[in-house]
Amino acid sequence: MATIRFEGQDYSCAEDEVLLDSLARQGAVLPSACKAGACQTCLTRALKGKPTPVSQQGLKDTLAAQGYFLACLCKPVEDMEIGLASVLSEYSVPLMRKELLNESIIRLRVEKPEGFSYRAGQFVNVRRSDGLSRSYSLASIPSDSYLELHIKRVAEGEMTTWLFDEVAEGDMLSFSGPAGDCFYLAGDLERPLLLAGAGTGLAPLLGIMRDALEQGHRGPIHLFHASLATSGLYLIDELNALAKQHAQLKYTPCVLHGDAPIGGMQGNIIDLPAQVLGTLSGYRIYLCGDPPIVSGLRQKSFMAGAAMQDIYSDPFVFSST
Ligand SMILES: Cc1cc2nc3c(=O)[nH]c(=O)nc-3n(C[C@H](O)[C@H](O)[C@H](O)COP(=O)(O)OP(=O)(O)OC[C@H]3O[C@@H](n4cnc5c(N)ncnc54)[C@H](O)[C@@H]3O)c2cc1C
Repeated sequence: MATIRFEGQDYSCAEDEVLLDSLARQGAVLPSACKAGACQTCLTRALKGKPTPVSQQGLKDTLAAQGYFLACLCKPVEDMEIGLASVLSEYSVPLMRKELLNESIIRLRVEKPEGFSYRAGQFVNVRRSDGLSRSYSLASIPSDSYLELHIKRVAEGEMTTWLFDEVAEGDMLSFSGPAGDCFYLAGDLERPLLLAGAGTGLAPLLGIMRDALEQGHRGPIHLFHASLATSGLYLIDELNALAKQHAQLKYTPCVLHGDAPIGGMQGNIIDLPAQVLGTLSGYRIYLCGDPPIVSGLRQKSFMAGAAMQDIYSDPFVFSST
């Protein structure tokens, strides 16, 4: 049993309990969203005592060295004093544009706040006034004057129902961020890139792809975007237009059911990239969206010759609150 000191109070944490849950059980609620180590909303700082290695996995070396850790993954092994992290800045900006991209996906564009610096492909945590918080990936690139989000309606989903049915153009939207390390790394402009995902997994992939093109990437860029059926695909015309403008870009829309879309394929997205490209040795790979699809693609990419350290992914883990 470890003792955790937080804001002048002592809390006990049982051996098998994560710090986030033990504090909440005793009435001290830390900000959190996914509770699975993905969104980094519960990033916390150890002022005394050492966080467990698991709770620092995936954090930037610079953050880990400063004692930052994820409270949703930390089962303390010693007494600790902790403080809230102030790494993710908070913003509140007007919603400039809200439009339907297909029957279940909306595009939101908000003003880019002054001083907001991010890498294309990172995500923000949108926060409602009652504290409800969910992560959404940025589909825009830093040179855009706006931030763009693609949001899929989830049946009875708290945040998506609010965003779809209540939030209107002109309303203020609050968020913190940016977070995440799934972004384009300049420096190897000839390297082949594979970008693959389903549904709104396209949002970060679009940002990463536009960023690579803007930074002068010359190697092939293969974008595979999947949906169950053609009606679930979106931005098809824009993506085809981009592929026409940039010879190195190949866009392949994919569906699991029904006829293949024009210029696209029918089949399981998990199998298609390796099937089309053969070996993925030497590729830098970005996988985003539905967690089982991301995990399946990761496995298939590795089996097709990709190195694990060249695979960047952002699984859209559901929040458990
Ligand atoms: C790093 C990260 C980036 C993300 N980026 C995006 C993004 O760009 N666009 C986007 O649309 N979403 C994204 N998500 C998912 C998003 O954060 C929310 O989980 C999602 O919008 C549902 O929130 P909600 O409050 O409406 O649903 P909740 O109230 O949290 O869930 C309601 C019910 O639906 C289930 N559920 C939740 N999500 C799904 C789903 N997708 N499919 C099926 N069942 C579900 C839950 O388990 C629950 O039973 C991202 C998640 C992470 C961690």
